[in-house]
Amino acid sequence: MTTRKASCNCGQLSVTFDGPDPERTSLCQCYECQRRTGSAFSWQTRLPREHVTIQGKSTQREFPDSEKPSEFRSCDSGGATFNFCPVCGSTVFWDLAIAPDFLGVAVGTFGDPTFPPPMIAGFEAYGASWALNVSDLPMPGGHYEHDGTSHGGARA
Ligand SMILES: [Zn+2]
Ligand SMILES: [Zn+2]
Repeated sequence: MTTRKASCNCGQLSVTFDGPDPERTSLCQCYECQRRTGSAFSWQTRLPREHVTIQGKSTQREFPDSEKPSEFRSCDSGGATFNFCPVCGSTVFWDLAIAPDFLGVAVGTFGDPTFPPPMIAGFEAYGASWALNVSDLPMPGGHYEHDGTSHGGARA
């Protein structure tokens, strides 16, 4: 059993998980995940509800939107309610219609590179061709270290 804490950028909204390593952690490149994260793909996990404690206030968004049907398939087509921090905007967790006993959690909100890696990926056809092979990119601007210094290039 390990205790891990996920939180939004400002720290107001958090999920504390006290349990075994998750059974399902995934990467997804669907358009819904790209827009929610603002990134090339999402890194997400499902945690058994009996092992999670939610703290803080969240604003909810239903997907799909009943007023405006989605124009594309996504990993959330079965229905999900996303919870994001009303202060800083980070999406931290969500309820999944297809897995009501689990809480979906954005793994990036743990800020923990030792979190168990993804075991499945989906919707690659929607993704950028380079997105899952970043180590293969030439990176002429160099690479950044954790302390913010860069090697061999300009900073973003
Ligand atoms: Zn926040
Ligand atoms: Zn997705």
